[in-house]
Amino acid sequence: IYILAIESSCDDTSAAVMCNNKTLSNIVATQKIHEEYGGVVPELASRAHQQNIVPVVHQALAKANIDKKQLSAIAFTRGPGLMGSLLVGTSFAKSLALGLNIPLIEVNHMQAHILSHFIEEDNYKTPSFPFLALTISGGHTQIVLVKNYFDMEVLGESLDDAVGEAYDKSAKILGLPYPGGPLVDQYAQLGNAKAFPFPKPKVDGLNFSFSGLKTSILYFIQRETKKNPNFITENRNDICASIQYTIVNILMDKLKKAVKQTGIKQIAIGGGVSANSGIRLALTEAESNWGWTTYIPKFEYCTDNAAMIGIVGYLKYKEQDFSDQHITAKARYVI
Ligand code: ATP
Ligand code: FE
Repeated sequence: IYILAIESSCDDTSAAVMCNNKTLSNIVATQKIHEEYGGVVPELASRAHQQNIVPVVHQALAKANIDKKQLSAIAFTRGPGLMGSLLVGTSFAKSLALGLNIPLIEVNHMQAHILSHFIEEDNYKTPSFPFLALTISGGHTQIVLVKNYFDMEVLGESLDDAVGEAYDKSAKILGLPYPGGPLVDQYAQLGNAKAFPFPKPKVDGLNFSFSGLKTSILYFIQRETKKNPNFITENRNDICASIQYTIVNILMDKLKKAVKQTGIKQIAIGGGVSANSGIRLALTEAESNWGWTTYIPKFEYCTDNAAMIGIVGYLKYKEQDFSDQHITAKARYVI
């Protein structure tokens, strides 16, 4: 089975070709334009998707060495995401499936972040059901009970900012360019995590809150730079390490609670922030400390990519779970 997958939910245009559960190609065109604005500008994102989608699909087919006539189905991200961005991928996928007269398969982006663990890779283990997924990305922070491929239950989620947003907003306060998450991570590895203590939010159950952390970082930086204008440059690594320490602690506390509540010790992470070195290390340590089995995606499958849409396409193809041509994009789309 050859599946062409299209992802265009936010600011990355991506296309992948899968052969069953293996990735033949996974092309991602990142939009640089948003850097100047310090965040994603939806209108500009849609336009860039329009420009990128045809060349990105061509590249994916060429790299996979597959002709479009060999494709069995087209999978695409239906949501959640930015409406204008989603419409580009949705319309493209519908047209191509119609033109080639092959099935169309809609995919939920957040399910795809989780199911990316089922892409077959060398030396890579896949989780067995049931497992817990911690999805940490630019728009979401969720703990999900995964009972089966398409039977998932959100046990907890952020009541305000997503964890990726917390990273990017903290980075912005420190004057770092967008998206700042990876930079905070990079500097954090060089600093002292205990240098500056930040408060952890008190949120009931398995829900999260990150907007208070952002505010306390902002006030802290304002206060310190008033005393010493060079405070940020002199303490950049320690500030980043302290922010990272707090965020990783918040995530691990809730995971521990979820493990206790469900009795499930298999934990998979997904989404852009799963590229973070702090959370990766904390999970690896949890294996030896608490006997958890953890699943950490390859870097390529952490941030937005079409291969994760392709694996869901393949899983749905096997079930003959196809979409019809009336389907529309969904900006809000619960898993
Ligand atoms: P969603 O999946 O919720 O729709 P999204 O698709 O925009 O959101 P992703 O591409 O999955 O989000 O993740 C992007 C986020 O991941 C950004 O906020 C980015 O800063 C963050 N991120 C990427 N790498 C790292 C890292 N190493 N450390 C911390 N954050 C990171
Ligand atoms: Fe995403």
